[in-house]
Amino acid sequence: MTAEILCVGTELLLGDIVNTNASYIAKELARIGINLYHQSVVGDNHDRLISSVKDAFENADILITTGGLGPTYDDLTKETVADYFNKSMYLDKESLDRIEHLFKSIHRPVSENNKKQAMIPEGAIVLKNDYGTAPGIILEENGKTAILLPGPPREMKPMFDNLVLPYLEKKSGKTFVSKNINIFGLGEAMVENMLRPLILDLKNPTVAPYAKEGEMLLRLTACADTEKEANEIIDPYIKDITNIIGAENIYGIDAYSLQNALVKALSEKNLKVATAESCTGGLISKRITEIPGSSKVFELGICTYSNDAKVNILGVNKDTIDKFGAVSYNTAVEMAQCIRKIANADIGLGVSGIAGPESGDSDKPVGLVYVAVSSKTIRT
Ligand code: ATP
Repeated sequence: MTAEILCVGTELLLGDIVNTNASYIAKELARIGINLYHQSVVGDNHDRLISSVKDAFENADILITTGGLGPTYDDLTKETVADYFNKSMYLDKESLDRIEHLFKSIHRPVSENNKKQAMIPEGAIVLKNDYGTAPGIILEENGKTAILLPGPPREMKPMFDNLVLPYLEKKSGKTFVSKNINIFGLGEAMVENMLRPLILDLKNPTVAPYAKEGEMLLRLTACADTEKEANEIIDPYIKDITNIIGAENIYGIDAYSLQNALVKALSEKNLKVATAESCTGGLISKRITEIPGSSKVFELGICTYSNDAKVNILGVNKDTIDKFGAVSYNTAVEMAQCIRKIANADIGLGVSGIAGPESGDSDKPVGLVYVAVSSKTIRT
């Protein structure tokens, strides 16, 4: 199956808003193995919209649009696609009830414009919108399928996840399973080089690399008749990839983020951590504490930015700072040891570095960072 994405809206065309819908849908289509050859954006104009729809169906079996389902006169997507399929519209009682109910709950009258949102092309599948007034629509004819979704991402995403994905899976008659390998410490290009012999020409599972800030993930997606079979296809590749790139560079499978993996590992081991940060300004404690469940594993975080604070609050030896500097192996180790003791935690983390933009010390370049871990058994 091949698909195209068409995002509708003059604001998008002019660059006033960023097209996050296209990137969301594109990633999801790749994950379930649907080929995507084109994406485009078109303004709120009937003639240009219909010509974009025609162009899209020249190549694709499925056209997914977002936007232009609103109540105003310039919201034209539904009417235009209905024209393309030569369908008349009818007032869908269920959609109207839903809209009326929503307006009632906010004590507002339903306008004639909003009723327009309950007009549905004959023969369409209606997708309930739990987060707004515009229902989504699926129209199928002669092997061509148009899926029309609302523009606001908070409406589009749940509709896509809960209604469109199951529809597409059912349509393809297959089950798709994805697993993510979370990698830290290796660049995307390096990982691709290492894996090229393994994944070149690989079709099932597909392997898609995604670069993230400071880390990357590989998403493996298998297509099979059952979930069990899909897992059986993916799992040996996870083993092979782990062997090739090294288990030490992988912090989890479907771990979501480094901080998620950390909180999970600490919880499983029943360990508590405390942090003493300098150049990171509290960012590490922020990242840990944003994870649900972190209160069980995070004891204390102190940002000791100045030398005085390192000495007076943490208890770092002043001589250590005078002799080696605040950004040094020795200071970071003492920070880690001190915070562990102050917090009575199992693990203490000390971080000191030169954040820039300038370094006061010619021997210590911007970006030099010492990270020390202290526990009863390890020190660096
Ligand atoms: P509404 O009922 O809110 O009018 P709609 O389906 O007609 O919904 P639009 O009017 O096209 O959608 O867009 C509404 C808002 O949704 C935009 O102002 C923008 O904030 C957001 N939006 C629309 N399209 C996109 C997109 N492709 N990516 C990200 N945000 C979008």
